[in-house]
This record gives sequence, structure tokens and C-alpha cells, in this order.
Amino acid sequence: MNMQDSHRHKGMRKRLVEEVRRKGIKDEAILAAIGKIPRHLFLDNAFAEWAYKDIAFSIDADQTISQPYTVAFQTSLLDLKKGDKVLEIGTGSGYQASVLAELGMKVYSIERHEILYKKSTLLLKKLGYYNVLTFHGDGYKGLPRYAPFDKILITAAAPEIPQALINQLRPGGHLVVPFGAGPSQKMLRVTKGKDGRLTEESFGDFRFVPLVKGLG
Ligand code: SAH
Repeated sequence: MNMQDSHRHKGMRKRLVEEVRRKGIKDEAILAAIGKIPRHLFLDNAFAEWAYKDIAFSIDADQTISQPYTVAFQTSLLDLKKGDKVLEIGTGSGYQASVLAELGMKVYSIERHEILYKKSTLLLKKLGYYNVLTFHGDGYKGLPRYAPFDKILITAAAPEIPQALINQLRPGGHLVVPFGAGPSQKMLRVTKGKDGRLTEESFGDFRFVPLVKGLG
């Protein structure tokens, strides 16, 4: 793997940060993470040119690396506090996990496709993100061994919210999920009250690849 991060990449990244800011992301820590992380390393070498456009892009196993704006938006909905334990469902390229890691979170991320699990694990290690633990498994089941989590982030379109994940959310915590079975989803933030009751807020339409049960 060519791990180079050139002057040119840095320049393109700066412009990407400004674009994401213009689209409404205000959290400076999130913008700084996007400005720092070499997103071109999360795509196959041949497509590095595409890495700093604000678009989703295909990766292995017919999946996608989310659009930078969407990564920033989902991240801001989590309302992160330093040191939060965050569970991500759908590691994919590992880019979203690296953003959470840059923000100082303890990240647990699950991916159902082995090829993506292997590649992202290697890359995150090479980039020095030791505060990310990756797992090859079915995100529908979450990670009961490591629960509870302060925040849970689903990065695939969920036709239902897996009950196991609700159970693994700490009271007071948020779960962010693109929800719906159709071609586009509503971005939902589910909050678990101290009494265990759930409340929901909705934040507009997005398009994600589907959350699928079982291993890939
Ligand atoms: N967060 C990723 C975006 C990945 S796209 C990134 O930053 O690149 C969604 C990912 O969810 C895909 O890689 C897909 O394989 C994975 N996925 C879908 N259903 C899953 C499940 N049940 N458990 C774990 N991963 C799942």
C-alpha cells in the first residue's frame, strides 16, 4: 500500500473541509478530523483522485465509503463527549471509524464482509488508530461483551432497529441510524432516557447501502 500523503492531497483536503463547512457542519473538531485524515488511502489507489470530492464512492464487496458530509453529519448527531465508547455498525473502508478515533473516542466497529474487515483493520493500524477495535461479525447482534456503549452509529440503511443494539445502549445515550427499507432513508437519532424510554428525532433524507443480516 502506498501510504503517501502529499502536499497536493493536503490542499484538496482543505478545500473539502471548506465545502463540508459550507454545507452546514459547524463542529470544528469534526472539520479538523476531516482536514487531517488521508481519505485517499481509504479508496483503492486507482481512485485516489476521487477521495476529496464530497461524494460517496464504491469500495470492495459492492459497498460504499460514505460521503464526507454525511460522515460529518452523523458524527455531529452523536453529540460526542471525550472518551465516549462508540459502537459503529458497518466499518466499510474504516473512514468513519478514523474520524471517531481522531475525536478521541473508544471505537468498536463491526463489519460483515471479511475483505472489508481485513483491509480496514490493517489500514487503521498503519495510520496509528489504536483506539479502534474492529470485528468481523453481524452488527445486528452488536457486541454484548463490550456493552454498554455511550453512542451507537449505524452506517447502513436499517429497515428496523435491531433490539440487541437498543439493549446495548447506555441510558442517556444516542443511537444514530439511517432508517427505512426504501431507496432513501430518514436519519434518526434515538435517545434512551435514564428510565429506558426511547425518544426519536428525524433529520432529513439520506441514501445508504442496506444493513444485511448475517456474515457477507
Ligand atoms: N462506515 C463506512 C461506510 C460503509 S457502508 C465507511 O466509513 O466507509 C456500510 C457498511 O455496512 C458496508 O461495508 C456493509 O458491508 C456493512 N454492513 C451491512 N450490514 C451489516 C451488518 N449486519 N453488520 C455489519 N456490517 C454491515
